[in-house]
Parts: sequence; C-alpha cells; structure tokens
Amino acid sequence: MTQKLIQDRYQAVLDRIQKHSPEGNAPQLIAVSKTVGADQIQALYDLGQRHFGENRYPALLEKQAALAQTAPDIVWHFIGRVQTRQVKEFINQIDYLHALDRFDLAKEIQKRADHPIKCFLQVNVSGEESKTGYEPEQVFAAIEQLAPYDKIEIVGLMTMAPADALEGELHFFFKTLKHLQLLVQEAGYPHAPCTELSMGMSQDYTIATEEGASFLRVGSALFAPEGY
Ligand SMILES: *Cc1c(COP(=O)(O)O)cnc(C)c1O
Repeated sequence: MTQKLIQDRYQAVLDRIQKHSPEGNAPQLIAVSKTVGADQIQALYDLGQRHFGENRYPALLEKQAALAQTAPDIVWHFIGRVQTRQVKEFINQIDYLHALDRFDLAKEIQKRADHPIKCFLQVNVSGEESKTGYEPEQVFAAIEQLAPYDKIEIVGLMTMAPADALEGELHFFFKTLKHLQLLVQEAGYPHAPCTELSMGMSQDYTIATEEGASFLRVGSALFAPEGY
C-alpha cells in the first residue's frame, strides 16, 4: 500500500467517525493491524494514529519489537480469542484485552499478570451460536465472580455483531450493549468501572459510533489490499 492510499483511507475513516459521532463524543479508533506488517503500522503512526489492535501474540511481540524505537507510545489492544495457555506469553505486554469471555481465562490472567490488566468483558448480544462470550443475563454474575481477582479491571464491555446482521439489528445489538454497560457502570463496582464500550468493525463502525461506542476496532477499511 502506498503512503497516499493509507492517508486517504485513514482520513475517510476519521471523517465518517466524526460525522456519525454523538455531539462532542467521538470514539477512539483502534487500527486493527493483524493483516499488515510493522511498516504499515509505522505509516499510520506517522499520521497520528496511536491505538493498534492485534489478535495473535507472536505477531504482536514481533511488531512491538520492530516499532519500539520509532513508535514508542503505541497503545496496544489484544482483540482476538485468547487460548489460556498463551496468556503468559503476552499478558504483561498489552494495554487492553478485549475478549475476556470465560472464567478460566480470568483465572489464568490472575496467575500470570504482574499488574492489573484493563479487560473488556465479551458479551454475546446477538445470541449467535458461533460467538463466544457471556450472555447478557450472565454479565452481572460474571463481574461479581471476578471481584476477588485483583489483576483484572473490567473497564468495559465488548461485542462482535454477526457479519450478516441487518442495519436495524446492528442498532439493536449495540444499543443493548450500551444499556448493559450503563447498568454495570451505575452499579459502581470498584473492580469494574465499566465506562468503555468496544464495538464496531469495518462493516458497522458508523452504527456503533451512533450507538455510543468508545472504542472502534477497524481493520480492513484501513488496511485491505488496493481495490478491495
Ligand atoms: C479482525 C477483527 C476486527 C477488525 O475487522 P475488520 O472487519 O477488518 O474491520 C475487529 N475485531 C476483532 C475481534 C477482529 O478479530
């Protein structure tokens, strides 16, 4: 990808976010860089982007090493499903974990983390069989179960909408998650401030923005090969 194309894509995404944001409340864009190398991360960094998302730990660690000198203040988000045995390899190297989707994973994080990790609880709002995460009705119980785990800070809720969802369904799923996030926030758990909402990908980030997302996870709209 040329620098010009990256710049145009980036500006287009930022413009759409701005246009769809509730007044004075633009979400933070996470550039999901899982399909590209450190050079393209650097290109976007040089345009001002700071939040990046990866979903495989070997690639994450490689890119972090490659960018340590030239992009020292990147905020790293781990966005994919995490296998329990891989936690120790990267948990202390990231700023946010977006897919805390089961109790076993929480137990492993507690064991391996050397400081509190900012985690999003993944919620399956669509009820889709293939998606992991807690059912909306399980969220409060899950959060209460995590109270003794001092290495886990529930900063927010996260969801993935089905790829084939209609526009009206997307609004409904994102609204549902926003509602749940506010309920948890209002409950005032010390270990679960739950002020954040991670939702919206390339296909649906404008809708997620309208529904109050605070973090958008956008990959292909920025990095897909030319002609996509
Ligand atoms: C890949 C990925 C994204 C970004 O998807 P795009 O459709 O390329 O924007 C967002 N969230 C998760 C969990 C992902 O794995």
